[in-house]
Amino acid sequence: MLTRTALAAAGLQPSEGGGKSSTELNFLVLSGEGAGTIEASYYKAIRKKKRLPEPRIGRAAVRWMVEGDRILIGNIGSDIYIAKIDEIPRPEVAQLIAATASEVDIRKRAQAAKKQPKKIKRTVIDYVRNPFVVVAALKRADGKCEVPGCTHGLFLRDTGSRYLEVHHIVPLSQGGTDTLLNVAAICPACHREHHFGTDRVVRQTQLLGHISAREAALGS
Ligand SMILES: [Zn+2]
Ligand SMILES: [Zn+2]
Repeated sequence: MLTRTALAAAGLQPSEGGGKSSTELNFLVLSGEGAGTIEASYYKAIRKKKRLPEPRIGRAAVRWMVEGDRILIGNIGSDIYIAKIDEIPRPEVAQLIAATASEVDIRKRAQAAKKQPKKIKRTVIDYVRNPFVVVAALKRADGKCEVPGCTHGLFLRDTGSRYLEVHHIVPLSQGGTDTLLNVAAICPACHREHHFGTDRVVRQTQLLGHISAREAALGS
């Protein structure tokens, strides 16, 4: 049985008998929106008629499964992963699948997607940004991307002003401040590049220096 192989590879053996003495399994759930872990026991069930004790996984994991689910259990080192094969995997898992799957397979999976995705409720922790910092940065930029040497074209908003995004050079989540010295009004292309492009650290340092020079010139 494959499950037993994966669990043994993770260094786990079923305990003799259930109850408190049983081995604890910690499954990391990879499929569906219910990301998280399932804790379940792993034990050898004593069976009648002198049959050999059979390894069983506790109720917590069984409850998570619905009849007809196809389940995949695997391990990476001592971590055990569980997924429902037919459920939509989490994005990071989808990327792992995509890394090895054929183009045909990926297209099949995409085509099998429901047209109307399920909705889920999320709780997001967000920062309350000072709107004056945003407005002042846009005024400072004066319709030009604040990344030195930017040559991207800018489109217009309905209001007639050029569209720029106010970016925190050092992210607030990394201790950056919500101040004019740490924001730059930049074009969408530069913005994505600053978040996802190569040489992000170099770009960040350059932009910080550039903005601090601009602020010094404005006499802040
Ligand atoms: Zn940004
Ligand atoms: Zn730009």
